[in-house]
Amino acid sequence: MIESIVIIGAGLTGAMAARALRAQGYAGRLHLIGDESQQAYDRTTLSKQVLTGEQAEPPAIMDASWYASANVEVQLGRRVSGLDVASRQVRFESGAPLAYDRLLLATGARARRVAIPGCDLAGIHILRDRADSLALRQALQPGQSLVIVGGGLIGCEVATTARKAGVTVTLLEAGDELLLRVLGRRTGAWCRAELERLGVQIERNAQASRFEGEGHVRAVICADGRRVAADGVLVSIGADPADELARAAGIACARGVLVDATGASSCPDVFAAGDVAAWPLRGGGQRSLETYLNSQAQADTAAAAMLGKPVPTLQVPTSWTEIAGHRIQMIGDAEGPGEIVPRGDAQNGQPLVLFRLLDGRVEAATAINAAKEFSVATRLVGARVPVSAGQLQDAGLNLRDLLKAKPQ
Ligand code: NAD
Repeated sequence: MIESIVIIGAGLTGAMAARALRAQGYAGRLHLIGDESQQAYDRTTLSKQVLTGEQAEPPAIMDASWYASANVEVQLGRRVSGLDVASRQVRFESGAPLAYDRLLLATGARARRVAIPGCDLAGIHILRDRADSLALRQALQPGQSLVIVGGGLIGCEVATTARKAGVTVTLLEAGDELLLRVLGRRTGAWCRAELERLGVQIERNAQASRFEGEGHVRAVICADGRRVAADGVLVSIGADPADELARAAGIACARGVLVDATGASSCPDVFAAGDVAAWPLRGGGQRSLETYLNSQAQADTAAAAMLGKPVPTLQVPTSWTEIAGHRIQMIGDAEGPGEIVPRGDAQNGQPLVLFRLLDGRVEAATAINAAKEFSVATRLVGARVPVSAGQLQDAGLNLRDLLKAKPQ
């Protein structure tokens, strides 16, 4: 009998798992413990509306009243210091340990930092939580200069927001293209051109080697000697799963807690979901997906498994972003074997979908300003129906008609 479930991490995944557990009929004690001082909020706004000040605060994931009405015992601003998996207890720095019958690790990920000289100067920011966004907002004053180290999702979203605020932006990317991890080379290059049109100065193959300034950062010095003046710096070079509790408890981890397709870890009764979980993918392999939509899906799957109703779900990465005024949605890995088949033309805001076609099936799709087409593309990726490049490019053909084919 399950009498106590403990969820560590009160962000999106933790809150969604709590909701799913109650929705699936779990009536026992449900503890939600988080080290941030707030209930779960929508982090996707931190690089956009909250950063501009358009929204004073990030929206809550669940109404504040929901937790009490669902009898969720929430402890905020509280850090779990260790797990004792043999006696099935969660430990804190002070206070009595908490016993669990099932445990969900939903501790998310942490922004990676650069360990180079000057990295402790004031004015150097990361962006992961509400406080980070409010601090960075102060640095986005018209006429100020911001140097962004790392041209991934955060770097490109913040570059967009900062330009809108009248800030001079230089973006330093270590690789030879922006956004390679999530959007692939072709969309990365397109975003680069759009950001340059917005006035972002982009330097590729650029390694920050030190920060200069007295007390407060004033410049970023690159490995090749270039000096870029800065009133503020954002470091956005990726995130690392917060899996240290699991590691210390001897639970198998490899850049995240290794789980099966139900969210179960190597340790009985311990599950993980969201950014901290290295989850199996439909296309093979397993990794932390670091996306909002996959975190939601994993929370639901893990909740069912914790209640003894496992429905294994292999994940397909899916996400969205807003860069240089364009809405970009993606499903599957943009880079990979097969051919890229474009449908449409992204010039002048026209919709464009880039399909990755492998062995006559759509493996991945990236949509630029093409929400309607993306919803069909998502179904094509899921349905695995046979399609040809010619069909995908035929403007006279309704993509929905392709869904009528039988999966092979
Ligand atoms: P990211 O992995 O998207 O991009 C990091 C970028 O930094 C890469 O382009 C990488 O080549 C570059 N880089 C790495 N080391 C560098 C260095 N020393 N100097 C210069 N460049 C370097 O990570 P992020 O943008 O930091 O985002 C962090 C997390 O937040 C990720 O998990 C991301 O998925 C998530 N996020 C998601 C969204 C979204 O889904 N729309 C938006 C924002 C953030």
